[in-house]
Amino acid sequence: MRNILLVEPGYKSKYPPLGLMKIAAYHKRLSDRVVFVKGCVPEMRAERWDRVYVSSLFTYYWKETVKAIEYYQESVPRRSDVIVGGVLATLLKDDLELTTGATVKPGLLDTPGVLDLGDKTKIDTLTPDYSILLEANHTYTLQNNYLGYATRGCPNRCSFCAVHKIEPVFNGYFPLRRQIQLIEELYGEKQDLILMDNNVLASERFKDIIQDIKALGFGKGATYSYRNKSGRISTRNRYVDFNQGLDARLLTEEKMSLLSEIAIRPARIAFDDIRFRALYEEKIRLAAKYGIQHLSNYILYNFNDHPDGFYDRLMINLDLNEELGLHIFSFPMRYVDLKSKNRLTSTPGNIGKHWNVKYLRAIQTVLIPTRGIVGTKRDYFLKAFGKDHHEFHKILLMPESYIINRLKHEGDGATDLWWSQVCALSDWEREIFEDIVCNHLFRSVDTEKLSRPVRCALDHYLK
Ligand code: SF4
Repeated sequence: MRNILLVEPGYKSKYPPLGLMKIAAYHKRLSDRVVFVKGCVPEMRAERWDRVYVSSLFTYYWKETVKAIEYYQESVPRRSDVIVGGVLATLLKDDLELTTGATVKPGLLDTPGVLDLGDKTKIDTLTPDYSILLEANHTYTLQNNYLGYATRGCPNRCSFCAVHKIEPVFNGYFPLRRQIQLIEELYGEKQDLILMDNNVLASERFKDIIQDIKALGFGKGATYSYRNKSGRISTRNRYVDFNQGLDARLLTEEKMSLLSEIAIRPARIAFDDIRFRALYEEKIRLAAKYGIQHLSNYILYNFNDHPDGFYDRLMINLDLNEELGLHIFSFPMRYVDLKSKNRLTSTPGNIGKHWNVKYLRAIQTVLIPTRGIVGTKRDYFLKAFGKDHHEFHKILLMPESYIINRLKHEGDGATDLWWSQVCALSDWEREIFEDIVCNHLFRSVDTEKLSRPVRCALDHYLK
C-alpha cells in the first residue's frame, strides 16, 4: 500500500479538481491510502508520502502552483515524486520541470501505464472519486453536481485558446449515461449536470448526446428532490450547463431545437468579437424562438478587440434582453497571454493592442460590485459603463478612486473638476496626459517638466 497525497494549490476555484478525483479513484483501486488537501497544510507536509500529485490550472497561477509543489517536495523520497498535471503543467512543462524538479505529466491521463509502468488503466475514463471532497479542508461551490464530458478536445484551433494543446484529439462522443450512473451509484444523486465539453456542437453525435442527457433525467423541466434543513423532502429544478460555452457558428436551428429539449440553464454562447454581431444576434433570436430564456456569454476582451466593440457587445445584450424578454448575463473575460505567469495588467504580453493598463484596471474596477457579471438592468449598466462610447472613454480614463466612489465624488464635485481640467487641455497636453495615465507612468515622469494644466489633471490620480 502506498501513501498518496493529492493537492490542489491554494488558488480560488469553484469546480472540484476532476483530474485529482480520477487519480484518487485509480489509487484506491490499487488499495493505496489517498488523502486530498487544498493548498499548503503543515500536518500534511509533516507526513511521509510515496507520491504527491499536484493539479494545475491557468498559467497565471504559476506562483501558487510552484509554491504547492515545493512545499510538499520535502515530504517525498525524491523531488520527482511530486507529479504535476493540468493546464499550466501542459503549457509550461519544461519551465516547470526546470524550476521545481517535479515530474510533469502533460495533457490527459488517457494512456495506460502513464502513472505506473505496465498498468492498463486509462485514468481519464475512471469515475471521479467524490468522497475525497468530503474529507478535504475546502468546500467547492459546485461539488454537489455531476461533472462530466460528452466529448473531448475541439477540432478548431482558435489562437487565444489552449484546448488543442491539452486535448489534441477531438473525440465526438463519450457515453454519458455510464459516467453519470456510476457517480450516482457510488456517491449518491447530484443536483445539476455540468458538462465541461470544449465544443460539444462539433460532435456528429450531438443528437445522441441530447438523448443521453434526457435519459439521465435532465429533460426540460427536470426536478430534483432533496431533504431540506428541517428533514422534509423538497423539490427544485435541476439544470444542465455546458460550462465552456456553445460555438455560435455551429448552432443550427436543429441543434437549438435539440437543446431546448433539455433543462439547459444558462445557455452560454460566446460573443468574442463585435465582428460576429450578426451571427450572435441571429443565434440569440433562435434561442428565444425555442424558449431558451436564460443565457450567458463570455465577452472576451483585451485580445484583438477595441474597447468600443467591448462596450457595444454588452449593450447588444441589454437590447436583446429587452426586445426578446431574455435574461442574458455577460461575463467579461480578460485575455491573458496563454503562457503568462501572472495576470498583471502591467505585464506587456497581457495587454491587447487596443487596450492599456489604465483601461484594463478601469474595467476591473467597474466590475467589482457585481463580481465580474454584467446583468440585465439598463440603468445600472448606463451608470457603470456610460450611456455611449464618449462616456465609456471618460470612465476608462477616470481615476480609480473616482470609479469606486462614484456617488461621493460626483456629489463633492471632484469628478466634474477632474473632467473639466482634462477637457481644457490642449491637444498636445492631452496626448501627454493620456500617455502618463494609460501607461501608469505617474512615478516615472518628472512632473516638474509638465505644464501646470497637465499637473492639475494628474493630481487627481495621486490623491
Ligand atoms: S472553438 Fe472554442 S474550444 Fe475550440 S479552439 Fe476555439 S475557443 Fe477553443
